[in-house]
Amino acid sequence: MTTPLKYVTYTLIGFLAVVGVLYTNNGFSRKFYLDFFLKSKNISKDEYIKYLSVKDSASCTMTDIFAPAIGRKFKSKEDKLGMIMCAEDDYKGIFGPVVNKLILKYHNIEDGFKHISDFDVSRISDLKLDAEGKYIISTRIRFARNLANHPFRKVHNIESTANTEAVITSILSKMEDDLKGEYHPISKMSKEQQKSLIEEHLLFEDMSKSQLMKSSGIVKSFTPKHSGIYLSEDKKLAVWVNEEDHIRIISIETGGDVRSVFRRLVRATEVIEKEATFAYSDVFGYLASCPSNIGTGMRASVMIKLPNLSKNMKKLKSLAEHYHLQIRSIHGENHKPEGSDTFDISNMIRLGRTEASLINELIEGLDIMIKLEMQEEQAKN
Ligand code: ADP
Ligand code: MG
Repeated sequence: MTTPLKYVTYTLIGFLAVVGVLYTNNGFSRKFYLDFFLKSKNISKDEYIKYLSVKDSASCTMTDIFAPAIGRKFKSKEDKLGMIMCAEDDYKGIFGPVVNKLILKYHNIEDGFKHISDFDVSRISDLKLDAEGKYIISTRIRFARNLANHPFRKVHNIESTANTEAVITSILSKMEDDLKGEYHPISKMSKEQQKSLIEEHLLFEDMSKSQLMKSSGIVKSFTPKHSGIYLSEDKKLAVWVNEEDHIRIISIETGGDVRSVFRRLVRATEVIEKEATFAYSDVFGYLASCPSNIGTGMRASVMIKLPNLSKNMKKLKSLAEHYHLQIRSIHGENHKPEGSDTFDISNMIRLGRTEASLINELIEGLDIMIKLEMQEEQAKN
């Protein structure tokens, strides 16, 4: 080989080797993208280097819990959190100060904070939203919960998934009166049944379609075996079993009676909590797979039709932001809200405020939105 040809060949081999190492999943690339991600969050290596080999109670290391960020490679800069947890101790400082620091920053909370809950229905505003029933289609509130001392979804294997399902369904079978219902495992549903429950906004979407659940490792070869949904006879209570968390307790009904929806949710949660201990921390409240959901674990939402306000999405979004609300597509978080006049509007904050105060802010924001929508409607006529 002539010298220039040798030079080109070696450069090419070197280049391919670097690309190969960076684009395959290996120990070096995982640490490389973790460094890249943490650097983008202004965290220096000194703050975490000595924790890299620490293992939590589920044998996960830092590179395991940061799998979502690592999976996004050079795009991880856009990821706000980049974490899915393996076990309760991941929230208890096991990986040093970095994890807590990122969580507090994400939730905009000062160090020294302690979570407080408020499930008192009497403290929910009695303001009657959308009295004529013109705008709010339905109201839904969910709590994300996990069982204490059970592996989180990321480290669930088939046996532990089955065990969590058995524990939860046995508790759910004790529901009484209007909360009484039936558990439907996905593996026993036909494709049509599954599709129709998703279209009714009751069931979660195919988990393998979620980038977060795939990159974090929640989705496994046996998924969705041992996942399913409990539904009360009136379909106003749903409990998702083994989706992103062990359970998502959901109260849902048509119309805008947020108080009634919250009351049912609190009642159902109390029944479950009588028999089960939820993963909980004095600092972070209810613990979840994704640190974005900790604290209240609550997302209270309405499905709302705003034909006039939706014409100016920028204005609608800034109004929502003012009341700390998030606008999602009616098809769930994996879809964009633009291009529709109907939205899922919910509290954006999960940690740092009580359940009752978040719901009251939702009601306040929605009341203003509905009034503005009515004004725009009148201005047209
Ligand atoms: P979660 O925060 O519980 O993960 P998703 O965004 O994944 O919620 O939505 C789950 C399903 O619940 C979707 O079908 C969504 O449209 C539906 N949903 C959310 N809010 C409402 C509501 N107020 N009324 C009816 N369905 C709703
Ligand atoms: Mg979800």
